Amino acid sequence: LVARMREFGTTIFAEMTALAVRTGAVNLGQGFPDTDGPPAMLQRAIEAISTGCNQYPPGPGVPELRQAVADHHREHYGLSYDPDGEVLVTVGATEAIAASVLALCEPGDEVVTFEPYYDSYAAAIALAGAVRRPVTLRPVDGRFTFDPDELRAAVGPRTRAVLVNSPHNPTGTVFTRAELAEIAALCAERDLIAITDEVYEHLTFDGVEHVPLATFPGMRERTVMISSAGKTFSVTGWKTGWVCAPPVLVNAVQTVKQFTTFTASAPWQLAVAYALRHESAWVAALRAELAAKRDRLMAGLARAGFEVFKPAGTYFVQTDIRPLGFTDGLAFTRELPALAGVVAIPTQVFYDRPERGRHFVRFAFCKREEVIDEAVGRLAALR
Ligand code: PMP
Ligand code: GLN
Repeated sequence: LVARMREFGTTIFAEMTALAVRTGAVNLGQGFPDTDGPPAMLQRAIEAISTGCNQYPPGPGVPELRQAVADHHREHYGLSYDPDGEVLVTVGATEAIAASVLALCEPGDEVVTFEPYYDSYAAAIALAGAVRRPVTLRPVDGRFTFDPDELRAAVGPRTRAVLVNSPHNPTGTVFTRAELAEIAALCAERDLIAITDEVYEHLTFDGVEHVPLATFPGMRERTVMISSAGKTFSVTGWKTGWVCAPPVLVNAVQTVKQFTTFTASAPWQLAVAYALRHESAWVAALRAELAAKRDRLMAGLARAGFEVFKPAGTYFVQTDIRPLGFTDGLAFTRELPALAGVVAIPTQVFYDRPERGRHFVRFAFCKREEVIDEAVGRLAALR
């Protein structure tokens, strides 16, 4: 294995899901739903396969999906992208992120990102030979946020891009307009590219709305806006994502994408195009269900003795394990199947400076109510 990848062994998601399978623990670790997406969308995928939509689609993606993504962004955010030249379909958001970093960062360039960060960011930055500059999100009045001065201090002469995830995995923070305005102002001032990971764009609660960074003045021209179908339509296994950006940026990403996968699977693209057009009521119901599941899990975790942080979006509740008498989340989560028959994710693995997140543990609530209840019942044993 090349030196630049040596710090990246098995991902925490693979480790913890394997641990759940091996021990029979309830898996509130890896974030994937245990119910299916909208039936009509699933039917479209079946039809696509049975009617011969099984060969290479065009490199940039099936035209129906590119058009549906462009229409979605116009309707939801007032952002217009040309489906021919400003939209690129990828193998999930993961490929979009990696291809964007590889396409836009020279070795030695710096990428600012907020820690704890989704694990693929560090690997994508390392693959590009670029350098990460983390800015730490810390709880303030129960909500994870950043210090604008710390953000400014992270930008230097070699900074090329800011990689922004909102709604944020794993903290559940949805950046406010004020927070996004700080990031936007800095990008304009220091001529940075923004790469935005918006995969939880529709999974926000309590009336909180997701605002894309690209909607801020001067940002559309410098933003690579990324999302995917996995979370919005409960099909994390379909790995269908997209990039929207001005031609000069999207062309760069596509140049890399040609040689990472060339193109993304065909049948899912047609089904997702259908869902983007016709399943907004289903998504609204999912969002309401998830909010209720969040509350259910939060209440159970609080009863079990955790300090609990209320997320405004995503699939995840962040907790502090210190009130239970534990200090190390990695040791705690490795022991948790034996202690209580539950699997969770140690947040510290998403930091450059793990000591800053040592005591945080993430639980997923994108599970059926009976699964959440079973987990919560088991966790009561920790008291
Ligand atoms: N970004 C974030 C913040 C995520 O939580 C995930 C995981 N689901 C991804 C990207 C990856 O998305 P995809 O499955 O579409 O590659
Ligand atoms: N995004 C999901 C999570 O954060 C899982 C992604 C993965 O397994 N790589 O839990």
